[in-house]
Amino acid sequence: MNTPNALIVPCPHCHAGNRVPLARLGQSPVCGRCKQPLYLAQPLTVTAANWAALVLKSELPVIVDCWAAWCGPCRQFAPTFAAAAARLEPGLRLLKLDTEAEPALAGQLGIRSIPTLIALQQGRELDRISGALPLPQFLQWAQSFRVG
Ligand code: ZN
Repeated sequence: MNTPNALIVPCPHCHAGNRVPLARLGQSPVCGRCKQPLYLAQPLTVTAANWAALVLKSELPVIVDCWAAWCGPCRQFAPTFAAAAARLEPGLRLLKLDTEAEPALAGQLGIRSIPTLIALQQGRELDRISGALPLPQFLQWAQSFRVG
C-alpha cells in the first residue's frame, strides 16, 4: 500500500470532509467550510446520524470506544480515553459510541462486551480489543493505527 500524502479528515463541527496534506496535520488545521478546528484534543460522540461522516468517510483512522453508562469498567476507562485523545491526535481520532443510545450501531458492530475498542479506517475494521486498558497499554495498541 502506498503511503498517501493527504487524508480526508471529517470536521467535528459541520462534518465536511477536509483533504489535509499529511505534512499539515500537526499544524492545527481548520475546516475549509466552517473555519473551526479539525481537532479538539478530546473524543467526539458518534451516533447513527454522524457515523457516515465521522467514520465511513474518514481516511483518518479512528478508534471507537463502545461504552454504556451502567458499565463500571467503561466509566473507569473514560478518563484514560479522554487523556489519550490529545496524545494520539492528529494521526488518529477517538470517538465514543453509547451502545445504549445506539443499539442498532452496536449490533452492526457485533459488540458482545463493553468496553470494546474498535480501530477503523473508512469503515473498515483494522482491529478490536475489549476491556478497560491502562493508559500505557491503550496508547501502545492505539499508536499502531496512527498515520503521519
Ligand atoms: Zn466544518
